[in-house]
Amino acid sequence: MRKKIVAGNWKMNNNKRETADLIQSLKSLSFSSEVRVMIAPAFTHLVQVEEMTQGSRLEVAAQNMNAAESGAFTGEVSASMLQSIGVKKVILGHSERRAYFNESDASLKDKVATALSYDMEIIFCFGEELAQRKDNTHFDVVKSQLSAALFELSPSAWSKIILAYEPVWAIGTGETASPEQAQEMHAYIRALIAEQYDQTLADAVSILYGGSVKPANASAIFSQTDVDGGLIGGAALKADDFSAIVQSA
Ligand code: PEP
Repeated sequence: MRKKIVAGNWKMNNNKRETADLIQSLKSLSFSSEVRVMIAPAFTHLVQVEEMTQGSRLEVAAQNMNAAESGAFTGEVSASMLQSIGVKKVILGHSERRAYFNESDASLKDKVATALSYDMEIIFCFGEELAQRKDNTHFDVVKSQLSAALFELSPSAWSKIILAYEPVWAIGTGETASPEQAQEMHAYIRALIAEQYDQTLADAVSILYGGSVKPANASAIFSQTDVDGGLIGGAALKADDFSAIVQSA
């Protein structure tokens, strides 16, 4: 049975001291063993957070990485660098990276391949924009994002893939997909995976919802059959809110 997962994407927030304070607060909380709890701080704090969370329930992820092994890619971070500091998870394909840093499905496919070659776990983000939902192409958009980056993977590679459906219109906007909209899309995604692979594999993949999840709406969304937890942005920056969301999973 797939486990629930709640992951906090801190984005470009928190300096060194704020990072330490938030980690201390999160470490003092007790989370149900039924839920995996992940946090993705900025690159500059990954070493510190990796050290501070040793022996705790908090799992650490990077927010991005480059597909190349090494070389002349100023400002970039490789999988082997992450591996060398003990970080074994990475968020790939976040809508902000797609929108502001021109990440394409093709470049994400390369990043996925590199991360898997380092045995990393991947939180793979995708989702439609508002105009696409309005013109009713949201299912096609999601299908094409998943097919382009993931559907050539071997079945065994899927044990390292966590999906995060994040409708772009709901990220950081305060507007959330309704529980029914989330369930409808998650069920569609699971059916797609079953069609591409098989039902057993589809049933084993965790599909997180992301987009303005808060303590007040988390349980309604997380209680949907095909929603296996959430990727949390703004609300992950406050220990109390993040903890309440984890408790709702
Ligand atoms: C996100 O950035 O992945 C996200 C879901 O942000 P927020 O929760 O702030 O909408």
